[in-house]
Amino acid sequence: MSDNSFNPYEMAQQQLDGVAEMLALDPPTRNLLRDSLREFNFTIPVRMDDGVIKVFRGFRVQHNDARGPCKGGIRFHPQETIDTVRALAMWMTWKCAVVDIPLGGGKGGVICDPHDLSAGEQERLCRGWVRQMAKNVGPLADIPAPDVMTNAQHMLWMLDEYEVIRGERYPGFITGKPVGLGGSLGRAEATGFGVIYTLREALKELGIRPEETTASVQGFGNVAQHAIRLYQQLGGTVRCVSCWDQQDRAAYSFYKPDGIDLALLQGITDRFGGIDKSQAEARGYAILSGEAWIEQKVDILLPAALENQINAETVTQMNDSVRIIAEGANGPTTPEADRFLKEKGIFVIPDFLANAGGVTCSYFEQVQSNMNYYWDKDEVLGKLDQKMTAAFIAVSDLARKKNLFMRDAAYLIAVSRVASACKDRGWV
Ligand code: NAD
Repeated sequence: MSDNSFNPYEMAQQQLDGVAEMLALDPPTRNLLRDSLREFNFTIPVRMDDGVIKVFRGFRVQHNDARGPCKGGIRFHPQETIDTVRALAMWMTWKCAVVDIPLGGGKGGVICDPHDLSAGEQERLCRGWVRQMAKNVGPLADIPAPDVMTNAQHMLWMLDEYEVIRGERYPGFITGKPVGLGGSLGRAEATGFGVIYTLREALKELGIRPEETTASVQGFGNVAQHAIRLYQQLGGTVRCVSCWDQQDRAAYSFYKPDGIDLALLQGITDRFGGIDKSQAEARGYAILSGEAWIEQKVDILLPAALENQINAETVTQMNDSVRIIAEGANGPTTPEADRFLKEKGIFVIPDFLANAGGVTCSYFEQVQSNMNYYWDKDEVLGKLDQKMTAAFIAVSDLARKKNLFMRDAAYLIAVSRVASACKDRGWV
């Protein structure tokens, strides 16, 4: 899911190399962590509605499971690549470690555009993915979840196929299930809310009152919409959101200087997070270019769409007003852009900390599914807030003590936890 010149896996490895230096990791540990433990790259034949068989490409990467079973989403995207999946699997390992949940890192994907597939075709694709992977996933091995362009319905089809193959019920096999069928209350909100729990703590640390802040958001999907809701509840103003327009095959930004109306925009948004341009324009929103979200005069940038969005080119378009970047998306900032942000003294809440609410709640979902006993929403979100806040404080304490950039501090904590687990198991 990237342009030709950007390779997210190389970026993830570069980030690890930097931390490995800081931690003085020995070469075997470094080599083990730089690579995936296991990779699956397979075909999925699907009978389309017109009777023709179409062959899709599927992936699953298990980066590291020293701290527990692998955990990570499955993306549906036309530009999916094995290297994107590898990078995301590695970031999942660090994410689970930084919030200290007993899981490792995995990720999966299918090269496809669900916009072009009927419900029946999507169901057969999901079942096909599971048929190819059933021997190598499961509640004690690797637990998938939703990600870009996959949802609770996709997870339920996958769960059903897994249970058909195994002949028993395995509610802990997959997370992001519908509530009432093994899903956890609060899962839908978890990633977006988690971003804002960490943002709230960052604002506290910087002595900034949330109600005096403004933000610009890239994306208007699951993560962005819930993040915006909680941020607005804290009193913040979102001036700009951007999203992908399926019809035009281009991104646009929607700008309103006195603050967007979340419910209004949600009412004119499709299920893939695309806002209807003409309806938004009719309601007083200025329609700007896809990149305009980054140029806004705001205090906070919240990338919540794709990787490689804050890069050497776009970072220079950022307004001097920006003080905090809360990374909802995975890998939105490149190492070159990071250097620029460090020099400018911008407070970055790194992706694998900021967006760890999703996997933390997925872990809660798995715990509940394995117990077959479900908590109420307040309990789930209360536990999530505690976990996210504790993780943020651990990272920011280390950053302050050692005068580190937040991303480096988060990496130091996560990588040293995973490296210790590999060592303690006698792997390296
Ligand atoms: P989603 O599919 O619900 O929404 C994605 C949004 O991004 C949509 O609004 C889409 O229009 C927009 N978008 C796509 N391309 C764009 C572009 N070029 N410019 C502007 N907007 C664009 O996905 P999501 O679940 O909200 O995930 C968003 C990001 O957060 C991804 O990087 C994902 O890996 C990461 N993430 C998601 C979760 C989760 O629980 N959903 C957890 C952790 C991380």
